[in-house]
Amino acid sequence: MSHLMNTYARLPVAFTHGEGVWLYDEAGKRYLDALSGIAVNTLGHNHPALVKAIAGQAARVLHTSNLYAIPLQEQLADRIAEASGMDEVFFCNSGCEANEAAIKLARMHGHQKGIELPHIIVMENAFHGRTLATLSATGNRKTQAGFEPLVQGFIRVPYRDIEAIRKIGEHNHGIAAVMLEMIQGEGGVNVADEAFQRDLRALCDEKGWLMICDEVQCGMGRTGKWFGWQHAGVMPDVMTLAKGLASGVPIGACVTAGKAKGLFGPGNHGSTFGGNPLACAAGLATFDAIVDDKLIENAVTVGEAIRKGLAEALDGVAGVVDIRGRGLMIGIELDRPCGVLMERAAEQGLLLSITSERVVRLLPALTFTPADAQTLVSMLAPMIRDFLARG
Ligand SMILES: *Cc1c(COP(=O)(O)O)cnc(C)c1O
Repeated sequence: MSHLMNTYARLPVAFTHGEGVWLYDEAGKRYLDALSGIAVNTLGHNHPALVKAIAGQAARVLHTSNLYAIPLQEQLADRIAEASGMDEVFFCNSGCEANEAAIKLARMHGHQKGIELPHIIVMENAFHGRTLATLSATGNRKTQAGFEPLVQGFIRVPYRDIEAIRKIGEHNHGIAAVMLEMIQGEGGVNVADEAFQRDLRALCDEKGWLMICDEVQCGMGRTGKWFGWQHAGVMPDVMTLAKGLASGVPIGACVTAGKAKGLFGPGNHGSTFGGNPLACAAGLATFDAIVDDKLIENAVTVGEAIRKGLAEALDGVAGVVDIRGRGLMIGIELDRPCGVLMERAAEQGLLLSITSERVVRLLPALTFTPADAQTLVSMLAPMIRDFLARG
């Protein structure tokens, strides 16, 4: 009997090593990795510069403490600030922790404005994590069920519904922030249109609310810009990062600008591991590789190739509802639950995930080549066609 807590319905596959966009299992079978550990392995597997950075740092020092200066942390904060135009970074170890920091900032901001019980507007189908505050912010009952009482202070609206948000602002004077993903990942790869993003920014400015963008999944170049909000040219007050930030070494970041800058002082927040030298070395290597190898441009062209290839291969196939996304964050929505496709794809040597029950989700490494895109399309399209024809 396994001594692991039963928190995941795992496929019975274990990988021993990876090379680029391929993973190998214990039997030596290879798998095209179109999931990247859920948007984590930004640089694929065994990327030479990343391995070198991690090994080199491990041989120097792994961890000191945030009680001392950590120059690598300052350098990584500089890179995030440069890519985003934002100001300050707090480092932690995961997406939910980054969002916890953002939620605390929003409450701090509310209190400074004299709001006694500050509330945050959040979206239906949002995913923000599994800690108590972030599961309360998450717009999925399954994530919350059994963990009541939920953390208070969240008001939910339909995704992309600016009028619903405006209406709340008219009646409720206790709002401190709006928190959302510019592309919902777990919610089914739903893209916030640019007009909505700009309207939301204007409304937050008008009301003095913080605009908080959860970029944990869509950030770090995946959508064809460093960050998802850059497509609309609006800057949030708070942005959270994690998954792809250090290509597989655990890290999270809460980034601030504008009204959110300077809200925390010593004693307000902290993390033992957050931004330790090993994680920051991996983060810096990730930034370097994205810039040096033009991986954001690559995400645009290869993402387009995948979407176009799938659109052609699935043209006229009944049951394909939509093919959407930006860059290398892609969803193929079907007209029925398709959870079985994850296992079937793995059997055939392709790694992907199903999200929101009916959406095949692709999150390939930013190092995917046009040839990899072709391989992916030629493996996936027949699988989807077969599933829709025969179940
Ligand atoms: C994965 C994810 C999280 C949670 O990140 P963890 O590192 O698992 O805590 C939060 N927000 C979004 C958008 C995510 O995709």
